[in-house]
Amino acid sequence: MSSTSAGLQYELSDDLKMLQNLARDFTRKEITPKAEHYDRTGEWPWEIFNKAREVGLVNLNIPEEYGGLGASVLEECIVGGEMAYGCTGIETALMLNQLASLPLLIAGTAKQKEQYLTRLTEEGKIMSYALTEPDAGSDVAGIKTTAIKKGDHYVLNGGKTWITDAPVASFFVVFAKTNPAAGHRGMSCFMVERDYPGVSVGKPLEKMGQHAAQTAQVFFENVEVPEENRLGAEGDGFMIAMRVFDKSRPPVAAAATGLAHRALDEAVKYAGERTTFGQPIYQHQGVGFMLADMKIRAEAARDLAWKSAWLVDNGKPNTTEAAIAKAFCADAAMQNATDAVQVFGGNGYSREYPVEKLMRDAKIYQIYEGTTQIQKLIIVRELYRGSK
Ligand SMILES: Cc1cc2nc3c(=O)[nH]c(=O)nc-3n(C[C@H](O)[C@H](O)[C@H](O)COP(=O)(O)OP(=O)(O)OC[C@H]3O[C@@H](n4cnc5c(N)ncnc54)[C@H](O)[C@@H]3O)c2cc1C
Repeated sequence: MSSTSAGLQYELSDDLKMLQNLARDFTRKEITPKAEHYDRTGEWPWEIFNKAREVGLVNLNIPEEYGGLGASVLEECIVGGEMAYGCTGIETALMLNQLASLPLLIAGTAKQKEQYLTRLTEEGKIMSYALTEPDAGSDVAGIKTTAIKKGDHYVLNGGKTWITDAPVASFFVVFAKTNPAAGHRGMSCFMVERDYPGVSVGKPLEKMGQHAAQTAQVFFENVEVPEENRLGAEGDGFMIAMRVFDKSRPPVAAAATGLAHRALDEAVKYAGERTTFGQPIYQHQGVGFMLADMKIRAEAARDLAWKSAWLVDNGKPNTTEAAIAKAFCADAAMQNATDAVQVFGGNGYSREYPVEKLMRDAKIYQIYEGTTQIQKLIIVRELYRGSK
């Protein structure tokens, strides 16, 4: 047996540390000080997006030949985790192009990638990912939007909801049924431009948190979509959506981890300064143990998120690990934010302090990109895969 642990490299390479430092500095200067403004106004953070684009912190996963950085999922996790520390709403708004690029990267032709990905990198456009419908969120195969073939184009009818960045998006990746009778096998995926006749976008929906990441409904009324805009073959839509999750869940888990760390740091600082009964409150065991539990969660969360990214980057299956990471990190974010509010006492409930925002922002991690219950369904399914 080897007496060394050199086979497992358990620290970031110098390049990854540099990337992390770049994202950390950017967050400290450009995101954290402006988080309160975007939370209050609900404006989309164009100014921050454009600055992040200049320094190469958005459109990370787009290959270099289309003007992106060709980043790994782990690199997305590192950058996303740092930015989310400053504000998860801004981080989500900025990172949506990466999620929406995935169907193109998975199933797009060279021509389709050239046509759309370069508009993100060269023109600074935004793309949204439109899967969810009012009657179909967790039940992806239950979508009702149809895309019926007519000659050399498809006619799209239906509506999507909760589409992040839709109010500012120039185009959408849209999932629709090309064969409504065929269940999940009848689902296909299309690039749909915002200015196609019949496409309309609702007003930003009012929501609990992550106000900078505007979400809206998107409607399609007899929208003619050229056949060449279909990604993959007819019927590939469900497979594309499932493959997206393996690459999109690790960065979402990493962003939740960023929030879990922020909640911890805010609570540690406050508990060191606030005194009751003659001592800093962290010295009361009830508070100290809460901080210890927050630290445990934040550390474990980061490892799970990064491991699920590392697996997919190395061509290994990660469906279970991505589901574990998404479920654990989301719960860690929510619990740490709730505990941070508790540590702050009455001040935790005040908008004058940063932790009530963390609590509002954290909740969504247990819902989008597959709810916590859906992650557990996946874990159980994978536990019994192959057994009868
Ligand atoms: C702020 C925000 C941003 C979003 N951004 C996007 C986006 O950009 N693009 C996009 O396509 N979608 C987006 N979504 C949609 C999001 O992915 C869905 O809301 C989510 O998947 C849950 O679907 P649902 O809302 O229909 O809830 P439902 O599926 O109706 O679930 C309701 C409850 O039932 C539980 N449940 C459902 N089925 C099961 C089951 N089989 N077993 C156990 N429990 C179950 C769920 O866990 C949940 O607790 C966003 C949502 C929000 C709120």
